[in-house]
Amino acid sequence: VTDLPTCRLATWADLDGWTRSLAGKVRAAGRVPEAIVGLTRGGWVPARLMADHLGVKRLLALQTAHWGVTATKDGHAALTEKLSGSVEGVPVLVVDDITDTGESLALAVRHIQAEGRPSRLETATCLHITHSKFVPTYFAEEVPADRWVWVVFPWTYWEDLRALATKALPDGKDASGVARILRDKCHLPVPPADVERALLQTAASTAR
Ligand code: AMP
Repeated sequence: VTDLPTCRLATWADLDGWTRSLAGKVRAAGRVPEAIVGLTRGGWVPARLMADHLGVKRLLALQTAHWGVTATKDGHAALTEKLSGSVEGVPVLVVDDITDTGESLALAVRHIQAEGRPSRLETATCLHITHSKFVPTYFAEEVPADRWVWVVFPWTYWEDLRALATKALPDGKDASGVARILRDKCHLPVPPADVERALLQTAASTAR
């Protein structure tokens, strides 16, 4: 199995730490927004947590798509759902999980500036990879480009596990073998029972 990415399993505790840190930076800058835009799907949960930390009531969504199956890019970033409400004349914070190429956040910012006309637009991500062409206003953790990993967030756990387990199955043969490959090749410590569940989910959806 050659095309398995190195992964990092992010926990809810990581999320709590990242969003606390981001909220601290936003407050310290005196930039608490009136509305938060969560880039779906990856930025949705961090955006909701940021709304809680900052006491922001208006939470909007905008969907971009870039990466298809786990760790595989689908051409260029594209907008797939419009901004879900008006941000005209108000200060806005756009939240995403990670800036990797940075294309998605750059595209979202261009779209919100042009269509939404907010009075101020800032951006925040939990993780920022240094090769990203877009640098968020705030980020909680910087990842050096030569230490790139595929981050398995709590909200992509099953999606990523289905994709990775399916790739590792020919060599791994069964759930324990696949779990061993994921641990050794991807640095992803997952229980064989979860691998089994992911493989069953994949089999069920391909049989549909
Ligand atoms: P990008 O346009 O390359 O900055 O990434 C767009 C979206 O793809 C991010 O907001 C994530 O949801 C997902 N993504 C990209 N790179 C990674 C990564 N290394 N680990 C986990 N998710 C990623």
